[in-house]
Amino acid sequence: MKPNTDLSADRNASLFERARQVIPGGVNSPVRAFRAVGGTPRFVKRALGPYFWDANDQRYIDYIGSWGPMILGHGHPAVLEAVQKAALDGFSFGAPTEREIELAEEIIRLVPSLEMVRLVSSGTEAAMSAIRLARGATGRSKFIKFEGCYHGHADALLVKAGSGLATFGNPTSAGVPPEVVQHTLVLEYNNVAQLEEAFALHGPELACVMIEPIAGNMNFVRASMPFMRRCRELCTQHGALLVFDEVMTGFRVALGGAQSVYARDIPGFQPDITVMGKVIGGGMPLAAFGGSRKIMEQMAPLGPVYQAGTLSGNPVATACGLATLREISQPGFFDELSRKTRLLIDGLKDAAVDEGVAFSADSEGGMFGFFLLDALPQNYPQVMKTEGARFNRLFHGLLDRGIYIAPALYEAGFVSAAHTDADIAETVSVAREVFKSL
Ligand SMILES: *Cc1c(COP(=O)(O)O)cnc(C)c1O
Repeated sequence: MKPNTDLSADRNASLFERARQVIPGGVNSPVRAFRAVGGTPRFVKRALGPYFWDANDQRYIDYIGSWGPMILGHGHPAVLEAVQKAALDGFSFGAPTEREIELAEEIIRLVPSLEMVRLVSSGTEAAMSAIRLARGATGRSKFIKFEGCYHGHADALLVKAGSGLATFGNPTSAGVPPEVVQHTLVLEYNNVAQLEEAFALHGPELACVMIEPIAGNMNFVRASMPFMRRCRELCTQHGALLVFDEVMTGFRVALGGAQSVYARDIPGFQPDITVMGKVIGGGMPLAAFGGSRKIMEQMAPLGPVYQAGTLSGNPVATACGLATLREISQPGFFDELSRKTRLLIDGLKDAAVDEGVAFSADSEGGMFGFFLLDALPQNYPQVMKTEGARFNRLFHGLLDRGIYIAPALYEAGFVSAAHTDADIAETVSVAREVFKSL
């Protein structure tokens, strides 16, 4: 489709201008403002299947899918029906419902490391509560996170590495007192030696190691098998808990999440606590954290770790999540989703090679990442070697031609079950055109 060039008729631009008067930066989550890539954010009017239409009625093939949740595509009939039916019975009660049990049972059935879960409303809330649980269960304060991993915006997680392993982190946001992040140790992803050194120095004081097993907030970077094996061994050895943040990867890279991918190569592999979000809500505000019965019984009202939520286990959100999980549990669902995602990245790779563009890409299930780099990066500094201006030209080239990818080079991409081979072929042919001009 041709880009709209008449600015006075550009509804996206006029909505953005209006939004900026009443919402900071015009958006309710910073990345939506296109600050990294420049230009005008697309205001979404409606979406169906793998597409959405912006305020100018331009159609886009959507490879963000609300940053992961829309694994079935937009407006899946079974999900829509479940949500409509639930809404008729009431939006929120602040009292328990049968559907919460059904959703908890379904999550536990699909993820073997879980015996109990607590439902919450956002990934941020789930990750924040998981840290509190790990600290409460171990009686320890310090924990490890990795550079480039995002776990939501709780204070103790908005932190960058200090100088050296003996010092703890520095806040990455104004409003976070240094005292609040003084227990957070930030290490390099996939660096086994540094992890070992950190445990040697702080082992007995560590409550947990929190990790995105396949990091989707620095585009797409897998924890290597040796690194993951060492994370598990060191946690067990020192009495720290291994916390998997699967808000993005859960029910997205495989039915059993990224932990099931690691368990293929590391027999018996399981994290101690799992944080979930995105797909389990199917596009509604819903997230969860869970683990063994012994750990989860530390939570109030059974145990001393406090956590609560007015809208937790919301009846409409749980209906949406449950319907979504039932669809993705159908036999062969992930085989087909993986095939389509590979079709996309293989197509992009071939096109890039033909046009002499440095390119590398990886995928697992319905999640992918690509880099304008010769080799796949292993950690955040390597991801950030991508030339920003080149990525921005690629982004706008695709956007102008109706392909919507994340407006920042450090974000993963998502394929849904609604994307057809024809959508993917169209995407590859558009990308080939854009590669020519890079
Ligand atoms: C999206 C995300 C979060 C935060 O979830 P919200 O629902 O946006 O608060 C946490 N961790 C990971 C890995 C995520 O991708």
